[in-house]
Amino acid sequence: MPPMKIEPLEFLAYQVTGQEGVYRVCLEENDFFGHCSCAHFAYRVQPALNRGERPWPCKHLVLARMTAWSEIAPLLAKHWNKQK
Ligand SMILES: [Zn+2]
Repeated sequence: MPPMKIEPLEFLAYQVTGQEGVYRVCLEENDFFGHCSCAHFAYRVQPALNRGERPWPCKHLVLARMTAWSEIAPLLAKHWNKQK
């Protein structure tokens, strides 16, 4: 199932086949790197962010970003066109 939008920049990402659970992804947190409620994010990604690194995001965050892009891109295009 694709990520489900719950607020303008927040999406629910469903875990991929073979694992169980529904994770909450917020794209605004960590200076727009995003945040996910899954264990991978908590134990691998967030500690790396806290060390100032730019780690590869968890798959739920990747899916939420991809889903958000089709909504964000038109807004960016509109904004950029206004500035010309
Ligand atoms: Zn995750």
